[in-house]
This record gives sequence, C-alpha cells and structure tokens, in this order.
Amino acid sequence: MAVSKSPGLASFLSLLLPGLGEIYAGQLLRSIPFLVADLYVTWLTYKDQSPTSLHLDFGLLFIGVLISLASMIDAAYCAIQYNRARLDICPNCGAKNVKGNPACLMCGTPLPGAVAPGPPPGSPPLR
Ligand SMILES: [Zn+2]
Repeated sequence: MAVSKSPGLASFLSLLLPGLGEIYAGQLLRSIPFLVADLYVTWLTYKDQSPTSLHLDFGLLFIGVLISLASMIDAAYCAIQYNRARLDICPNCGAKNVKGNPACLMCGTPLPGAVAPGPPPGSPPLR
C-alpha cells in the first residue's frame, strides 16, 4: 500500500466522478455530499429528456461544473491532509518519512516532532 496519496490523482478522480478523489484520499464521508449533489444535478438534467432530442440546461451544466471543480480542489486538499498526518518531510533533503522515525532515512537529519531518545536503561536519574 502506498504511504502517501497523490493530490493530482485525487483531483483527477474527482474530475471523473465528484467524490471519487475524496474516497481515494480516505475521506469516505466527505465524498457523499459531492456524489449526491452530482447525481441530483445529473438527474435534473436528464429527467425530462426525450430519447430523440437533447435540450441541455446550461444553468444545470454550470452547477455540475462547479460541483466537479469544488470536489477536485477538496480531493487534493484531502490528499495533502492525509500525507501531513502520516509523513514527516525532511527539512534537509525533502524526503518523505513515515511519522515516528527519529531521523530521515535518506540523509540522517533529525526530524522535527521526533521524540528525543531518553537516557539508556539503568543510568542514574538526572538531577
Ligand atoms: Zn533527509
């Protein structure tokens, strides 16, 4: 399983179907408003259409485009949040490290937020 989520891929998935990028970024509940709004607008667009002629409502199409754009931006944000919660970016080399590592696996720089190692077991207490 990939450790990080690509904001670009999340956006692309939400372009295909609003809400899909949020699901990819691990935000299942957050995808529901986008999915429901998109399905509702799609239903409004096609409910009165005859099979032989298509009269598109450009107001509804515009709303559909707005839903897609909002979902694309939100999905990228969800992916960034996902990565921030799970990765420490090395300040020295920029490598992505899984949270909890005391130092960068690529260059050895101590990572911010890492717990400083305590005294070795059996050593006298500090005064
Ligand atoms: Zn590094």
